[in-house]
Amino acid sequence: MSSSGNKLSGGILIGHKSEKVLFLPPGTLHAVWTKKGAFFLGGEISLVEGLEVMARFIRSQLMVVETSKEMLKQDIEKYAEAIGETLRLRRDVSTILAIQSWLNILPNLNETLERLKPEDGRRELCKWIGPLVSEWQKWAGSNPHIKCCPCKPTKALDSFGIHFKRSHIPAL
Ligand SMILES: [Zn+2]
Repeated sequence: MSSSGNKLSGGILIGHKSEKVLFLPPGTLHAVWTKKGAFFLGGEISLVEGLEVMARFIRSQLMVVETSKEMLKQDIEKYAEAIGETLRLRRDVSTILAIQSWLNILPNLNETLERLKPEDGRRELCKWIGPLVSEWQKWAGSNPHIKCCPCKPTKALDSFGIHFKRSHIPAL
């Protein structure tokens, strides 16, 4: 920042006090200055708004799983956490966003699971994906009252849970 600070423009300056928490959207370039010495605590939380971006990253990493294992593992963990939090909210709009992000990952995930041999990372991938699949199974088994699935938005379903388990949960 000290080398490029005078070349940046269009930013905003926010005065901030220690009793407040500042939330920044994912990917926000930021820097922190203090008037006097201070102790900082920063954290990364996963929100429903970030699910599509997370899904896009996971999809890309699945295509290069052989060279991107550690990053993929971490991203799947964060994504599983965000999916769990979102499903626990039980807000239908958020749930649909979560399902859409999952449906975007699934074709690549299924293809990768088919392609990999157990010793080439399939076993590892199944282990990483396990908690995520459990989140979906738990949710699908809780009799969700949603009537349409993003895979067929115009078709009303009698049992969303059964449809979801059959169509959108991979066998590991
Ligand atoms: Zn569906």
